[in-house]
Amino acid sequence: MKHKIIVWFRQDLRLLDNPAMYEASQDGVIIPVYIKEDQIGSASAWWLDLSLRSFKEKLDSLGANLILKKGNPHQVLKELASRTGATAVYFNNRYEPHHLENDKILITELKEHGVHVNTFHTNLLFEPGSIRNKQGNPYKVFTSFWKTCKQIPVQAPLPVPANINWDENKIESCKLEELELVSATNWHQKLEQYWEPGEDATLKKWRTFAEVDIHDYLTYRNDPVLDATSLLSPHLAFGEISPRLIWHESKELEELSEIENLNEEQQESVEGFLRQLVWRDFAYHQLVDFPHIVDKPLQQAYLSFPWNKVEEDTLEAWKKGQTGYPLIDAGMRELWETGWMHNRVRMVVGSFLVKHLLYHWKEGSAWFEDTLVDADLANNTMGWQWVAGTGFDSSPFFRIFNPIKQAERFDPDGTYIKKWLPELRLLPGKYLVEPWKAPTEILENANIKIGVDYPEPIVEHDFARKRALSAYQQMKEEN
Ligand code: FAD
Repeated sequence: MKHKIIVWFRQDLRLLDNPAMYEASQDGVIIPVYIKEDQIGSASAWWLDLSLRSFKEKLDSLGANLILKKGNPHQVLKELASRTGATAVYFNNRYEPHHLENDKILITELKEHGVHVNTFHTNLLFEPGSIRNKQGNPYKVFTSFWKTCKQIPVQAPLPVPANINWDENKIESCKLEELELVSATNWHQKLEQYWEPGEDATLKKWRTFAEVDIHDYLTYRNDPVLDATSLLSPHLAFGEISPRLIWHESKELEELSEIENLNEEQQESVEGFLRQLVWRDFAYHQLVDFPHIVDKPLQQAYLSFPWNKVEEDTLEAWKKGQTGYPLIDAGMRELWETGWMHNRVRMVVGSFLVKHLLYHWKEGSAWFEDTLVDADLANNTMGWQWVAGTGFDSSPFFRIFNPIKQAERFDPDGTYIKKWLPELRLLPGKYLVEPWKAPTEILENANIKIGVDYPEPIVEHDFARKRALSAYQQMKEEN
């Protein structure tokens, strides 16, 4: 008789390149389970609900019953093993510090319970801790990390197993609604217009991007209006697609682009895209090597940084896109509307919070964690430490983005601003980046009263810049 194996699906809601499921299909009969554990951000919870729905339907069509449970996985898995007679649990690794800690305890407990555990690596290109410099230490500079990664072969993705034996148990499963993922706010309904969670939709999206847009990635990736990046981040965060599959299919494209009639920048675009994907691995390496970075600066000196005390009104103005700086407000409203924001704009809104308002970056990372559909502890932490200048290879604190100049540079014709701030759409381009400077007549013609239809700037740029630099100086003197 074949062994019964529980496959515990976690951040890997996919069939393609899923080693836990693949290996279990070779070794025995599969009992598939998903357990709702942590409290997650609102946008992520919305995503997970749809992603699980789609995955459950997919397994249904293969004759498998995905058992949904909630609660402590240690308890759930032990009970499930006892009730089904399963002799093993297989799962793919997660690398957040609390998950690593829990998994260690879980493995010991299950072994004591007579259940064998098999774990696999799949959600990153390289296992955290595996990319090291010549001295065997973690890399602090991304370019060096990337150069090493390029030399190391990435494991080929696994296919969907040809024959899977699913267990025919009658174990009761929660209904999806009982997992209480979707909150009662209307905000979530908006997200459906922009996203389609699930493995099939993800593969389609990836292959559409790979067919055309990937070759223009380097040319347009900094343009916030064009949707010229892959928009795969939430799909990667939920494991609906394997980064190894993206890597190998991109490599095939790279070979093709050498023979096709592409210009130099287009030929380098596939590599440019893969380089960006490797930032994700860099983030996970940092998170596993330095787990304290979730709430403490990587650079010790910043422990004494004199952050401002948060004023709720001001923080709320930032969150809801009411700062009076159009590029900042457009970015924050894009986030509130779609659960996503362009990378370039993430940097600028982050810099504004940390440097113009002098608020601790944790305020920003917490808001992003709640509202981003791609919220990911490693990427979000690294992103915020980068913005605040407190991480490795970060933008130095003293480099303060000017939100007006950034708008002129990355949104020269104001399309992005007009898209997310419709109240400014009649303003001539020149005043779109600093509407408070527009003459009364122009404001009247555009139907705008500053302070009524669109806010005054909540902080003056030159003042904020000087204040930030003096806080930085104070920290330097104390260290
Ligand atoms: P593409 O440009 O198409 O890149 C492909 C993939 O590479 C992305 O899906 C992502 O997985 C990875 N990637 C790209 N850029 C980065 C980067 N700078 N750092 C790490 N991985 C990257 N990304 C998240 O996935 N989750 C987060 O919670 C998150 N928070 C961020 C917070 C701040 C303050 C900043 C500045 C950046 C943050 N990022 C985060 C990184 C980046 O903004 C997004 O990964 C990117 O915008 C996603 O869009 P895309 O899928 O079209 O990316």
